[in-house]
Amino acid sequence: MGEANWDVVVIGAGPGGGSAALHCARLGLRTLVLEDHAEIGTPVHCGECLSEVAVQNLDLELPDEVISLHVKGIRVLFPNEVEKKLTEPGYVLEKHLFERWLIDESVKEGAVFKHSHKVKGLNKKFKLENQFSNWEIVGEGELFPITTKMVIDASGVAGISSKLLQNSNQIEVIAGFQYEMIEVENDGYLDFYIWPKYAPHGYVWMIPKNKGRANVGLVTTEKKGAIKFLDSFISDTYLQNNEKINPPWRMEGKKIKPFGGTIPISGPRNNTIDDGLIMIGDAAGFTSPLFEGGSHLAMKSGKYAAEVAKKSIENGKYSKTDLKVYEKLWKSEFPPYHKILKGKTALYDLSDEELAIMASCMPDEMNGMSIFTKIGVGLKILIKKPSLMKKKAISVLLSFGYSRAKYYGW
Ligand SMILES: Cc1cc2nc3c(=O)[nH]c(=O)nc-3n(C[C@H](O)[C@H](O)[C@H](O)COP(=O)(O)OP(=O)(O)OC[C@H]3O[C@@H](n4cnc5c(N)ncnc54)[C@H](O)[C@@H]3O)c2cc1C
Repeated sequence: MGEANWDVVVIGAGPGGGSAALHCARLGLRTLVLEDHAEIGTPVHCGECLSEVAVQNLDLELPDEVISLHVKGIRVLFPNEVEKKLTEPGYVLEKHLFERWLIDESVKEGAVFKHSHKVKGLNKKFKLENQFSNWEIVGEGELFPITTKMVIDASGVAGISSKLLQNSNQIEVIAGFQYEMIEVENDGYLDFYIWPKYAPHGYVWMIPKNKGRANVGLVTTEKKGAIKFLDSFISDTYLQNNEKINPPWRMEGKKIKPFGGTIPISGPRNNTIDDGLIMIGDAAGFTSPLFEGGSHLAMKSGKYAAEVAKKSIENGKYSKTDLKVYEKLWKSEFPPYHKILKGKTALYDLSDEELAIMASCMPDEMNGMSIFTKIGVGLKILIKKPSLMKKKAISVLLSFGYSRAKYYGW
């Protein structure tokens, strides 16, 4: 085998791919990023929230143009209109500009970016004695075929390497859509409505942006009826007289329609590595399963992947066994997915009345609850509706707790 053209090829230019490329380039690796679309970040498939904790954790210095609004945190609204806050500051981004900025930064550090390059095949090449040597990547675009020592799969929910190599389990996904609306009042909180009537097994959001703009959307397992549910929410609530518009990245004159996509919700894939290959972000299934935030996890896993790639390439050892250290890293840092999933299942098992009772037992500010407050909540639930304990109310509360920014919730 001849020398591979690249040290690392990153598939996809979302937040995960951008972060992986930036860190690979900073570490001096010959890095190529391939993006299927002709332009980075559009159509936007994100509510566009990113916490301050994430920005600090990733050492990002966000330029003004990628920030739409500074926000105070999340407000969860329950069916009886009881409201509870999870105050943790953050940003609503202009996400496509943010993703372009990340790639620009990686190019400044020496990475090469190619749009309109769709990866369609991954061929493993071996040295003598059946030892892994490198990857040959094929696809649509003038650069193919491409050879590289390592691949970082940041292809999002498409999970291209798992699909092509069939080397891990399938993941479950949920559909999410939103409209951009205008003249929407806000007090700096992201409003999350756990109102099963409008979002079965999901929630509706109002995510404020600058100049009265807002992303109003939902996630629900009822994919077919999703838009109808969203339209009903808008027409039944304070948003009924607000206008929907096309977001700035969509060509003027086009029919106004919701935008969105699908999000992994069953937790990480059972395998996130292969010989010379690391999966990150949505491609690895890393999204936080209750509120479906994934950008922070995508970028952190991109950073881990870059660090592991650097060391492995330096030592000339990047077989699947050599890359196990990547799985150790994310498993020790990322949230306890099984606990969030258990609580989420319990949450969607509750009736509107039970949800309302549980909410009324919680303090108005849910962030930073002391152990005594948590015990107090448990006791209140026990007194008001003992059967709620059997329905795993504590698991529900834990899943809220593990969906905070500090646990990579957003
Ligand atoms: C409606 C909705 C709302 C959301 N709201 C939020 C939120 O507010 N906050 C948050 O943190 N998360 C949110 N998420 C989740 C978040 O968008 C994702 O978790 C995040 O974008 C994952 O980043 P990624 O880089 O792994 O993948 P992606 O952002 O999906 O990027 C993958 C990239 O790979 C490219 N690609 C795919 N296949 C190929 C191929 N074969 N060849 C080349 N390129 C390819 C794609 O074009 C894309 O550019 C939301 C998701 C949805 C759908």
